[in-house]
Formats: sequence, structure tokens, C-alpha cells
Amino acid sequence: MSPLEIRRYPDPILRQISTSVEAKEIDTSLQNLIDNMAYTMYIFKGLGLAAPQVGVLSRIITVDTGEGLIALVNPRILKGEGEEIGEEGCLSIPDIWLEIKRARKVIVDGMDRTGQKVLLEAEGLLARAFQHEIDHLNGVLIIDRVSHLQRQLIESKLRRLRKEQGTLRPSSSNRKSFT
Ligand code: ZN
Repeated sequence: MSPLEIRRYPDPILRQISTSVEAKEIDTSLQNLIDNMAYTMYIFKGLGLAAPQVGVLSRIITVDTGEGLIALVNPRILKGEGEEIGEEGCLSIPDIWLEIKRARKVIVDGMDRTGQKVLLEAEGLLARAFQHEIDHLNGVLIIDRVSHLQRQLIESKLRRLRKEQGTLRPSSSNRKSFT
């Protein structure tokens, strides 16, 4: 298996809204995509990955914050509770770390890789990862969740990095990254 290519900001695909998957569309090729996403997430040391990040505009995410792999099709946040600020990175925006405010606890539903309905309750890092990945399905990135001034600073840093590196590669640091 080789990892999938990760789309990087400012790739316009990251700004698009992904399409829901019907239970009857869950077949071997979709399950292969989920497996490849999970593999890619682990190779690049991500805590999560959303399908648009590998160029597929379907509502699919994989997450593993240390408690095992969770793959969800059509994930939705039914309820968010509390607030927590924490540092996030994104495999699609290498070398940028931002303090992002998220709900501390979420209730998420969706389908698993076999099309079974699932309902999950998550808090802390796992809740954060779900919110980050579901944002991707709606074309929302972490740079949209900071102040206008901070956003401008990030944009200029990203322009500089692109100039230095040609194309951005996933961060080589050992820090765990979201995606
Ligand atoms: Zn991300």
C-alpha cells in the first residue's frame, strides 16, 4: 500500500463541500478508500484525515487520537457542549500551529465502514479531532477559525514557506498533526 497524496492549501478542493454517501454506496471500493485514508493518516502521523484532503469530495473521515481507529461516513455533530482552546495543526497546512476554540464535548453520528449507524460521544482531543475533520467536509480550515490579523500573518508565512520549499511537504517534525 502506498499513501495517498495529501492536498495542501491553497488547493481549491479543500474549499469545496463534500457530498453525503448513501448506505447502498458503501462497497469494497469505498472501504478500500477508507483503509487507504487510515494508512495515509498513520504514515503522516495525523490524528485524523478527511476525504477531501486526499482529493475525494465524499463525507468520510478517519480519526485516531490514541484510542483506536474510528472511520465515519457522513459524520454529523448533533450536539456540542462546553468550550476548550487547544493547539491544532493540519496535514494540509504544514508547519502551522494555531490555538483553536472548540466544543469540549460532542455527540457525533454517522455510519461505520459497513454502513451501520453509529452514535458516539467524545471529549477533549477526540472531540477536537471530530470537529476539525468535519470542518474539512464543509470546506472549512483552521485558518478560518482565527482572527483576521492572525490570518494575514499566517498567509504571509505560508507564502514565504512556499517560496522556500517550492511545494509544501508534510511537516517532518515529530509533533502529532491533525488533518
Ligand atoms: Zn486538517
